[in-house]
Amino acid sequence: VGEAARAAAGQQQGGQQLSDSKIRVVVRKRPINKKEVERGDEDVVEMDMRNSCVLVNETKLKVDLTKYAERHQFHFDEALDEYVTNDQVYRVTVEPLVHTLFHNGKATCFAYGQTGSGKTHTMSPLPIRAAADILQYLVRPELRDVSLFVSCFEIYGNKCFDLLNMRKKLNILEDGKKKVCVVGLKEHTVNDVEVVKQLIEEANHRRSVGSTAANADSSRSHSIMQFALKRFIAGGAHCRLVGKLSFIDLAGSERGADTFDNNRQTRLEGAEINKSLLALKECIRALDSDARHVPFRGSKLTAVLRDSFVGETARTVMIANISPTATCVEHTLNTLRYADRVKELRKDKAERAPGGVTPGDEMYHAAAQRAAVNLPP
Ligand code: ADP
Ligand code: MG
Repeated sequence: VGEAARAAAGQQQGGQQLSDSKIRVVVRKRPINKKEVERGDEDVVEMDMRNSCVLVNETKLKVDLTKYAERHQFHFDEALDEYVTNDQVYRVTVEPLVHTLFHNGKATCFAYGQTGSGKTHTMSPLPIRAAADILQYLVRPELRDVSLFVSCFEIYGNKCFDLLNMRKKLNILEDGKKKVCVVGLKEHTVNDVEVVKQLIEEANHRRSVGSTAANADSSRSHSIMQFALKRFIAGGAHCRLVGKLSFIDLAGSERGADTFDNNRQTRLEGAEINKSLLALKECIRALDSDARHVPFRGSKLTAVLRDSFVGETARTVMIANISPTATCVEHTLNTLRYADRVKELRKDKAERAPGGVTPGDEMYHAAAQRAAVNLPP
């Protein structure tokens, strides 16, 4: 728990070992909003602090009780309730990944969930906080020749668009070594956190209004923001990748079911989303297993992320965003099951380990304590 727990407690990292768990799964519940309360909807999701778990409390449900007669309980590394701030989310998700980045590593943070569950709300502040931490490290003399580069693109249907270059269409190509790359993606050098804020704003703006196609909307695209740390060598003539950190705001998980829609275009997009979310789950699971076949080529999303999944130093955090309401319970269950499946392998490992301690417990206590006393960042 060492590194993670210290990160959760808001202490400085430095000289720590990489945590040996390659995948972490965190669930975050958003608060019920005014509109939902006004229409008589109810909060049916409870987070159990002690066990870091989520209860979908069916006893409160007014809708079809026979269908939801049971309670569903899931255990995750972290179960963040509606009182947890974006800052606290950073501490338990991306902060430990920043460390990976400086150790020749690849790290990825995903937000998964139905449209309106809080993915963008959760993801948008994370690169800003991460950039602040990274830039603080970069002032060190031994890192003088290392720079931070930021790029951002979206995968919409089967196509790729540069969200930081006028939504230019990009090609995905495979080189002779079967390495997939996004050709012509614009990279921005960043020396200032304010610049990252502007880039995120621009990307979010381009993502939602960039296309004029009738049914192009952000819930049907995956947005991928990447931080690359590069060291300049040979007097600045060449550079070498030190580490890579990706922030991924996935398409709305409910869009994978659009395969039954009457509109052909929507149906095709739904099929692509479904395919990518399934492939993603398998690729993340493969991080922690000795799987021989990993379906990277199963979708554009996993093909371009392949790089970030392979290797001993690869780390992944999945944030499962959920809505609290009774109306959303079906989608919430789907999200929880997806997240549960992602970490299933690791759970088996933990159960086999002596003591059977769930790694997330201590971290959640720290996060919960911070939430309770409302400490400043
Ligand atoms: P998604 O990206 O999953 O479609 P959004 O991030 O756009 O969802 O969130 C939907 C709405 O709920 C937004 O208005 C957002 O500001 C609000 N929201 C989401 N999560 C939270 C939260 N933890 N606290 C307060 N408001 C939230
Ligand atoms: Mg969104």
